[in-house]
Amino acid sequence: MEIRLAGITQESIADGPGLRLVIFTQGCPHNCPGCHNPDTHDINGGYVTDVEGLYQYIEKITVRNKLLRGVTFSGGEPFLQAKPLALLAKKLRSLGLDIVAYSGFTFEQLAAMALKRKSISALLEQTELLIDGQYKAAERDLGLAFRGSRNQRLVDVQATIAVGRVVIWEDLAQKRWA
Ligand code: SF4
Repeated sequence: MEIRLAGITQESIADGPGLRLVIFTQGCPHNCPGCHNPDTHDINGGYVTDVEGLYQYIEKITVRNKLLRGVTFSGGEPFLQAKPLALLAKKLRSLGLDIVAYSGFTFEQLAAMALKRKSISALLEQTELLIDGQYKAAERDLGLAFRGSRNQRLVDVQATIAVGRVVIWEDLAQKRWA
């Protein structure tokens, strides 16, 4: 299955808990003023690769880098490509990696979209932490963990699905991620 990417960073400590590999997907409809990744907006930009090859690439990295905790899907808007990312996430979790996803959509918007697109619920089901909402320059705060503006939330996706309301990661799930 094909996926369109903007790039990959092999090691980051700024895009979720612990040391993470970051996949930047290509294509974003949000046009947030002040976006730091404008090159990722064009849905025809970047380059196309396939999920199996991407998985094998990451698997090799996990063999030589035991400190890698997980993989982050950033962008761009990852949920534009929910189907290949859900497939990739499932395979990566079988390696013991956890999944963080960014989205310019809120969790509630994604949940509504998931009613018509099964791939969105499939990706949410494979995601531990969702950093949701558009970047808002007026709410910019450099002191926030893993995000740029105060409106963006750290959503514990598995707890949220389990209880049926948005559960903020900092409140309940910190112990699991410590
Ligand atoms: S959602 Fe992210 S990549 Fe898309 S415009 Fe907003 S800040 Fe940029």
